[in-house]
Amino acid sequence: MGTSYFTEEHDAFRESFREFLQREVVPHIDKWEKDGKIERFIWEKFGEMGYFGLHYPEKYGGLELDLFYTIIFLEELQKINSGGFAAAMWAHTYLAMTHVLKEGNEAIRKKYLVPSITGEKIGCLCISEPFGGSDVAGMRTTAIKEGDSYIINGSKTFITNGLLSDYLVVAAKTSPELSHKGMSIFIMDRDTPGISSTKLDKLGWRASDTAEIAFDNVKVSAKNLMGEENKGFSYIMQHFALERLVMGVNAHARAEYALDYAIEYMGERIAFGKKLNDFQVLRHKVAEMASEVEMCKTFNYNIAYRLNNDEYVVKEASMSKLNSTRIADKVIYECLQLLGGYGYMEDYPMARLFRDSRLGPIGGGTSEILCEIIAKMVIDKKEYKPATK
Ligand SMILES: Cc1cc2nc3c(=O)[nH]c(=O)nc-3n(C[C@H](O)[C@H](O)[C@H](O)COP(=O)(O)OP(=O)(O)OC[C@H]3O[C@@H](n4cnc5c(N)ncnc54)[C@H](O)[C@@H]3O)c2cc1C
Repeated sequence: MGTSYFTEEHDAFRESFREFLQREVVPHIDKWEKDGKIERFIWEKFGEMGYFGLHYPEKYGGLELDLFYTIIFLEELQKINSGGFAAAMWAHTYLAMTHVLKEGNEAIRKKYLVPSITGEKIGCLCISEPFGGSDVAGMRTTAIKEGDSYIINGSKTFITNGLLSDYLVVAAKTSPELSHKGMSIFIMDRDTPGISSTKLDKLGWRASDTAEIAFDNVKVSAKNLMGEENKGFSYIMQHFALERLVMGVNAHARAEYALDYAIEYMGERIAFGKKLNDFQVLRHKVAEMASEVEMCKTFNYNIAYRLNNDEYVVKEASMSKLNSTRIADKVIYECLQLLGGYGYMEDYPMARLFRDSRLGPIGGGTSEILCEIIAKMVIDKKEYKPATK
């Protein structure tokens, strides 16, 4: 890859994962995009290959590899042009499973993390609500203690894998009067009575199932509480650093994919007797875009390196997502333009890329909210600290 972050082993992994995706995933993508769901067998194949366990401890069946294997996993998933398929995979691995590992006790890890790594169980993370996603502290779902159980009431929306997952990681207020200081995290099986999901139709990410989920007097054992009661908000914030970096990396990778495709196209398409890549105005456009993508990529690798060394990079990860998703949208918009009418056709990759990319500045913390967080750190000198379990 030509950067100091990747070894020969990393490169070999990239090659084999790329080959696996071409062989096992790409032939099914159009069907999954059309059906709005991903068939179960591919989850199991990912599990068999160890792809869900790259960064997870060997003790639970993972491979305990450094974070750059995850970076490769994310980048290559973006390069088969189904943001929805990629989202289903990384939301399971880096949203739901992160909470299971970090806050789950041994019993929870054995019950949920081990089969998540083998691909037998699919997870989803339920934070956003119909009344507001950005204002996490304002969530209305409650979990009220009754003896050895909690009774959950409320609803969540826009949940990736919200329909087909086997378990749900759910944020709910255990002490609503304490606002964000009264929030906790629970894990629950999909078939727990009182849980129902409704599939949502959407602009892009069409292969991934996105759902609204209702909790109607759902009774879960107190053993399903993950971590400490009322610490949920700091757990969520803690994991945002990884989640935002994931979304930043996804963005630079899909922008790079778009640009590579457009450059190849420009070398073949003739207009006014010349190849497109002979027009100076277009060459400069490509040069600008390549520079922006390269800057995002290098920045994101640096954050991955620091995160891999356990640094708390919440500011930088927020900046990564803010900038990389903005640049990806811009690059994909311009690359679609470079293909002219073909850019608008479903037979070419730009149309789907364009739809899928638009979620970047929205999901997992909108650009406006990221600016709020970054402004608090750079202007008000606010310091965010890691949560202690
Ligand atoms: C396809 C998809 C998949 C998703 N997957 C998941 C998932 O798996 N799990 C999950 O929990 N969530 C998921 N989300 C939800 C996502 O994280 C939220 O949509 C996002 O956080 C924004 O929340 P909202 O949609 O309620 O927008 P709102 O919070 O209603 O915001 C609306 C607009 O107002 C702006 N705004 C709000 N507050 C401020 C402010 N203080 N200052 C300036 N501007 C502001 C926002 O930036 C936005 O532009 C997903 C969303 C989508 C679309």
